[in-house]
Amino acid sequence: MTVNELAESLRQGNRRALAKAITLVESTNPVHREQAAQLLDLIMPYTGNTIRIGISGVPGVGKSTFIEAFGGHVIDQGHTVAVLAVDPTSAVSGGSILGDKTRMETLSRNDNAFIRPSPAGKTLGGVTRRTRETMLLCEAAGFDVIFVETVGVGQSETAVAEMTDMFVLMLLPGGGDELQGIKRGIMELADLILVNKSDGDQQAVANRTVSDYQMALHFLHPRSRNWQARVQALSALKRQGVNEVWDTVEEYRSALGNAGEIESRRSAQSRAWMWSETADALLTELKENKAVKSLVEPLERDVMQGKTTPTIAARKLIDAFRKRS
Ligand code: GDP
Repeated sequence: MTVNELAESLRQGNRRALAKAITLVESTNPVHREQAAQLLDLIMPYTGNTIRIGISGVPGVGKSTFIEAFGGHVIDQGHTVAVLAVDPTSAVSGGSILGDKTRMETLSRNDNAFIRPSPAGKTLGGVTRRTRETMLLCEAAGFDVIFVETVGVGQSETAVAEMTDMFVLMLLPGGGDELQGIKRGIMELADLILVNKSDGDQQAVANRTVSDYQMALHFLHPRSRNWQARVQALSALKRQGVNEVWDTVEEYRSALGNAGEIESRRSAQSRAWMWSETADALLTELKENKAVKSLVEPLERDVMQGKTTPTIAARKLIDAFRKRS
């Protein structure tokens, strides 16, 4: 199958073509990378008419339970959903938090849903890039609501917020005072905070947590001029508050959409993506350079022992790289 045929088949919503295309963008083989680039170029005009929702929360907060319920509701509204993941633990430990168990069983059997676990990768940047490209492939294949899920560890929240239109943070009831150790920076990314497991004997605590966070949000710098971040109670398990999340997404979409902010965010994201691609590619080339390679070990040692400064060492590496060929 040529890249053109693959693009055509993908656009018709063929699942096998989508799977094949994703394998291509996830491959590290240079020939595949080249074909993936051509493919993305071909499908680019058919992407973007979608809403991209990032969802983050610590393991056990209820992300899969929520996505299963929420995805079902969204499909009932006439949409098709793709669920992707950015799992930084696959880069750090080779294992994976998001991929190890069978998740979202009902949704995964639904013809209007497509679920893809986090790609493996040595760096968060690599994992992020593949997810971003997969997102575009899903859009070209006709999926119009995209979820990108991540766990609340490392820098993955920022990465996901930078590839989506709306960022949803899931929290547990309780822990009011220290606000569950959530870093301020991550709260500031949130367009919507969901206090999950608002049910049973946790109900009262959950209500208090909702007001605590509402209060806390007032002291944070709002992410958008057109949207005040919200806090909502949710029971993913009992399916209470799930439909309301979709109402909020639609409100958000129209508030930002009317102001042109979704478009401007996406342009800024594309620009940032271009630079991170450039930086990644240059760094890879630099690290593979022979002259650089021979310097790495002694320079790292000197820097670690305080015999030379990181700035001088960096300059030496770059000088060696420039003198190549
Ligand atoms: P994830 O790791 O964030 O994907 O979390 P899961 O969706 O796997 O949920 C972790 C556990 O919490 C499971 O045993 C769920 O049944 C439970 N859980 C999820 N949502 C709720 C909820 O709204 N209420 C209660 N009581 N339990 C929930």
